[in-house]
Order: sequence, then C-alpha cells, then structure tokens
Amino acid sequence: MTNEIWGEVQEALKQSVGEHNYKTWICPIEFDAFEDGVAHFCVPTNFIGNWVNRNYADQILQHLHSAGAEVRRIEFDVRLARQTRAPRPAVIEPAPAPAAPASVQTETGEADLPGGKLDPRFTFDRFVVGPPNELAHAASRRVAEGGPVTFNPLFLYGGVGLGKTHLMTAIAWELRQRSPELRIVYLSAEQFMYRFVQALREKEMMNFKQLFRSVDVLMVDDVQFIAGKDSTQDEFFHTFNALVDQRKQIIISGDRAPGEMKDMEERIKSRLQCGLVVDLHPTDYELRLGILQKKIENHTQENPDLRIASGVLEFLAHRISNNVRVLEGALVRLVAMANLVGREITMEMTQDCLADVLRVSERKVTVEEIQRRVSEHYNIRLSELIGPTRVRTVARPRQIAMYLCKTLTTRSLPEIGRRFGGRDHTTIMHGIKKIDELRGKDSQLAEDLELLRRSLEA
Ligand code: ADP
Ligand code: MG
Repeated sequence: MTNEIWGEVQEALKQSVGEHNYKTWICPIEFDAFEDGVAHFCVPTNFIGNWVNRNYADQILQHLHSAGAEVRRIEFDVRLARQTRAPRPAVIEPAPAPAAPASVQTETGEADLPGGKLDPRFTFDRFVVGPPNELAHAASRRVAEGGPVTFNPLFLYGGVGLGKTHLMTAIAWELRQRSPELRIVYLSAEQFMYRFVQALREKEMMNFKQLFRSVDVLMVDDVQFIAGKDSTQDEFFHTFNALVDQRKQIIISGDRAPGEMKDMEERIKSRLQCGLVVDLHPTDYELRLGILQKKIENHTQENPDLRIASGVLEFLAHRISNNVRVLEGALVRLVAMANLVGREITMEMTQDCLADVLRVSERKVTVEEIQRRVSEHYNIRLSELIGPTRVRTVARPRQIAMYLCKTLTTRSLPEIGRRFGGRDHTTIMHGIKKIDELRGKDSQLAEDLELLRRSLEA
C-alpha cells in the first residue's frame, strides 16, 4: 500500500461515490501509513472520520483490494490536515491588543451586534434526532464545538418546519456558552437585506461593512430570500468572502440546495457549495413520535397532572405530516384543552379538538400520483412502470417509485406491492433497500429523488 495506490483508489472512488460526496468526504482524508495490514488515514475531524468509516469504509477497502493492496483493515485518526499545520504568519505586535469591539460587548455578547434574538427553547437538548436529520444534527454539533474551521460554510437546507432555525440557534447557544468572547451574529437573510438597505439610505455603508466583517461567526437563515435581489446578493457575496478569508465560520440555511436556487448568482451558488451541504429530510413517523414524546415531557414538567390516553401521540405522529411546527401547534392546543377540562386527553377529544388540522393533512400524496410523476420524469409509460419488464431503464425508476411510496405515503409494503402489478412485498422491500443504498453513492439518483419528492409534496 503506497501513496500511488491511494491516488488510484481516490480516482475510482470519485466514480463510485459521485463528485459531491467525493469532495465532501473523500478529499479531506489523507493516507498516512501502512502497518501490519492496517492502512492508517488522517482525517481533519472525528466527525468526518466516523462518517467515512460508517458509510464508505467498505467501498474504500474494496477499491484498495482491486488496486492490489493487501489491506485487512483501515483506520482513521484525527489529525490536522497538513495545510493547517503549516506555520502561521508571525504575530508582529508583541502583545496583540484585544479586538476593539469586544470591550463594548455585554455579557451576552449581543451589544452593538446586529441580528435577532435567539429563541431560548432552540437548544441541542431539545432537538430530537432521527435518521432524517441525523447528518444535519451531527454537522451542527461539530460546528458548535468551535475550534479550527473545517467546513465553511455549513449549509443546511430542507422544507419548512424541519428544524433549520432550531439547529442554527442551537449552534449559537452552544458556541456562546463555550466561548463567550466570540462575536456571533445570527440573522435572517431578510434582516440582512433590511440592514443593508438602511445603511445605503443613511450613507453608512462603511459601518455596515465593518460590522459584518468583524464577526467571528455569521449565521444567515433562509438565504433564499435574497434570490433575485441583486445588490443585496452582491454585498452578501463580499461579506461572505471576507469572512471565509479570515477563516471565520459561516452557517447558512435555505429552503433548497444551493444549486437549485433560482435567481441566485452562480458565483454565490458555488460559494455556498464549497463547505458542507447537508439536508434535513422530511420527518418520518418515528421521528415525529419522538418529538411529540419529548414535547410532552417538557409539558409534564410544568404540569404534572397532564394525562394523555395511550395511542394519542401515535395517532398524531401518523396523521400530521412532515412539518414539525404544525405538529407542535397541535400539541399545544391539546395541552391547553387538557388544562381547561382537567382530565385525560382521549382519542375522541383529540379528534374533536384538532379536526381542522387533521382535515388539512389528509391531503396526502397517493401511490398513483407517484407512479405518474415517476414515469413522466423518466419518460416511460405508466403501464411499463407497473408491468413485468425487467429492463434496467424501467426497473430502476420502478424501484424509485416504490421507495417514494414507502417514504411519502402510509401504505404498507403489501399494499404497495398490489399497486405495482401484484408484486410480492419482499420485492418492494428489496427495491426500497436498493434505492436507499444507491442514494448515498449516486448523486444523480439522489438529485432525481429529491426533485420528485419536492414536486410531489408541493
Ligand atoms: P425551519 O427553520 O426548518 O422552518 P424550525 O427550526 O423553525 O424549522 O422548526 C419548527 C419547529 O419545530 C420549532 O419549534 C422546532 O423547535 C421544532 N422542531 C423541528 N425539528 C425538531 C426536532 N428534530 N426536535 C425537536 N423539535 C423540532
Ligand atoms: Mg426557519
């Protein structure tokens, strides 16, 4: 096992994991040494090491074997990447004076800084983790640890109410607690624009620039808001670059992947993609149930008499769709009602009290819609999609349709099988598993899935 072999393997991995995953996960690892059948790699952070180990170790081993390396095992050790170990420019001043703005800050570090108030409830403690948000959560935790900036920016995206603002705020709280001296600015892209326009009007652009370029951590929520707003985008771009050059952490959220943003300048899109881009997937049943249980725990601390009949939370998790905000709203109403009537919340009361919410969320994606969209997307006939042919160009879209049926509807596997020309539930399960596997490796497929999902849920 040598550096050359690793070079070869990297090329092969680029093919098999896709450009995007390659840049995010494979590029940062460096071959270090080979000893007793174990290949050691350096990774910049534990997080990257764990992720690569969990998701790509098998593939890396396979490629190493194909390239002729007799490697039994691979290990990842955290060590700073070489370039960051290079000597830093020497500090010329004998004793660097504290940064001027720090002295005017209050204990909370908020004085004179732009940005909104942070919601005290949006902490990591209160964030429930499940497969749909696992990666976004892990990346946020990593950024919240502070230390050398490893991915810049962190870009979180996903649909409404999936926890983007919650995670960003949690990062801010955690950073503030660990390093009170940091100048952290959290604001929505809308507030950014508002401040910018105000500065223009009041001829205070110098102040504006200085202010935003002197922060240690900049968080901009809902960046899609500045799409199509040219001069704001321009200013945002310069602020962004100035901070990245100073190795300051930037965290951005948006409602879709940077590449998919409409009316966003190319140079901004590509800047946004340079760091780590992670998405929050729509919640699944287990995650919704977990969130409800956690919220009920919080409510019972305030009101120990709160009683909820068994099955109610499950019912809500089942019937109320992806948006966690809607789910929370429903729960708040139930709890208020329970306090009012002073007895256990039954299933009947639930249905009564939430009739309107439940009706709205009845509009669900159907199996038929999924089949239709998928066949349109891949340009094949619906009858082919459902029929018996095993040609790859039909079989793969069919598996994609099965996967979407499982994730977007509440149909069981046998039910889905019936609607796919009477296929057995094991065939459906196999198809779903296949797509789940490919999703991590094939970026084109992942993109197709995402597009289809969004168009179906729109
Ligand atoms: P977004 O910014 O993505 O639209 P928010 O972060 O505002 O969504 O989340 C909406 C609401 O749902 C918030 O009250 C938030 O606390 C809650 N929420 C979302 N995801 C979770 C989660 N995984 N665990 C706990 N609460 C969550
Ligand atoms: Mg938000």
